[in-house]
Amino acid sequence: MLVVGAGLAGLSAADELVRAGYEPIVLEARERVGGRVHSRTLDNGAVVEMGAEFILPGCTEVLGLVERFGLGLWDKGMRYGQREPRGVEVTRGALEEASILIDEALREGREGTARELLADLPLDAGAREAITARAEVSAAAPAELVPAVELGGLARLSDEPAPSVAGGNGRVAEALAAELGGDVVHLGEPVRGLAWGEGGVVARTDEGEVRAQACIVAVPASVLGRIEFDPALPADLADAIASIDYGHAAKLFVPLRADAPPSATLSVPDRYWAWTATGGGAEVQPVLNAFAGSAPALERLGVGDGPRVWTERLAALRPDLDLDTGDALLSTWDDQSWSAAAYSLEPAPATCARIAAGAGPLLFAGEHVAPEYGALMEGAVRSGRAAAERVAAAP
Ligand SMILES: Cc1cc2nc3c(=O)[nH]c(=O)nc-3n(C[C@H](O)[C@H](O)[C@H](O)COP(=O)(O)OP(=O)(O)OC[C@H]3O[C@@H](n4cnc5c(N)ncnc54)[C@H](O)[C@@H]3O)c2cc1C
Repeated sequence: MLVVGAGLAGLSAADELVRAGYEPIVLEARERVGGRVHSRTLDNGAVVEMGAEFILPGCTEVLGLVERFGLGLWDKGMRYGQREPRGVEVTRGALEEASILIDEALREGREGTARELLADLPLDAGAREAITARAEVSAAAPAELVPAVELGGLARLSDEPAPSVAGGNGRVAEALAAELGGDVVHLGEPVRGLAWGEGGVVARTDEGEVRAQACIVAVPASVLGRIEFDPALPADLADAIASIDYGHAAKLFVPLRADAPPSATLSVPDRYWAWTATGGGAEVQPVLNAFAGSAPALERLGVGDGPRVWTERLAALRPDLDLDTGDALLSTWDDQSWSAAAYSLEPAPATCARIAAGAGPLLFAGEHVAPEYGALMEGAVRSGRAAAERVAAAP
């Protein structure tokens, strides 16, 4: 059995295949596992997440992996669902009222885009703007591309914890890979072509060919075009893959020179949020983290030219913090060969189902194939396992 991609989807698929008695081979393009889960440690000791950070409520499979490998969690001290909006006139009461109206509308089954729903409801103007900003940031896309139903999660003021893995989320991927072993996971080996048919699959890499009975392709839809399928994928499957839209996001990390309390603030005009969070104990890690979402936001913050503009804006947003602005670290994904974007934009369940069904000996996995948990680590894990279960169930 072959798995392409050692992100959480590919690693979970391989893990499940091993449990089912197979001996999978995982081919990974990068020189590391984890894909869009990538933890780094700054010179001052702060652990930052270049990609996925928060284990959102309900992400039980990721929590299960944390427990299985005995990794522990960092509560973070701040709350993902509470971000103080700045750059707009709005009261806490107006935000709460708006969030109730949105929930009511969604319960009534209102459809359409987030932009349409927010325009239709009689919301306080500041609350409308703040909620639009929050939705655009987290969905990593303009509100006209975000389904209204997403506001149920994106607009909710919530005190529920959204922790990260103690010492970095990357530890989950590393633990899965370590358990699989070095013979199973091959790094720095991008798959260039997949020939497939009744007899199985032949993967072409720069090192040679790998033959397998079946293959789980666990790479983002945004870079599937870099793999040459022979024969081409069936038209309806290729169309389903092509129909997946992606959000665009970047992160910025600025070391702190002095202690700070946990905090979470949202720059409404610039469409990014910024937080300080605790690590292992009650003390805040010495870093200000920021996440900007949607292509227009990245453009406005000049992300393509480096961290300068965003760092200046961040310093203006958080004058309360002593920032070491000369040492800012930027994390971008649009320019990475093996991701090319941040995460998918809620593909329709029918689209996910078509992609997951695959073609012949080819199956597909990844956060973009997970209807309920799309765009999340949880979706990646679930989709990988589901693909492996399909392989095991095949006659
Ligand atoms: C900035 C950012 C913030 C995020 N924040 C959160 C968050 O707070 N919480 C959350 O749950 N999720 C978050 N996510 C989403 C989360 O990271 C993803 O949903 C999840 O990690 C996707 O896993 P995956 O296995 O589907 O894909 P990936 O992690 O992209 O793995 C795919 C793997 O395939 C490899 N690959 C690609 N092409 C080839 C090829 N041709 N041959 C071999 N290998 C190949 C890639 O190198 C990669 O390792 C965030 C993502 C980003 C970018």
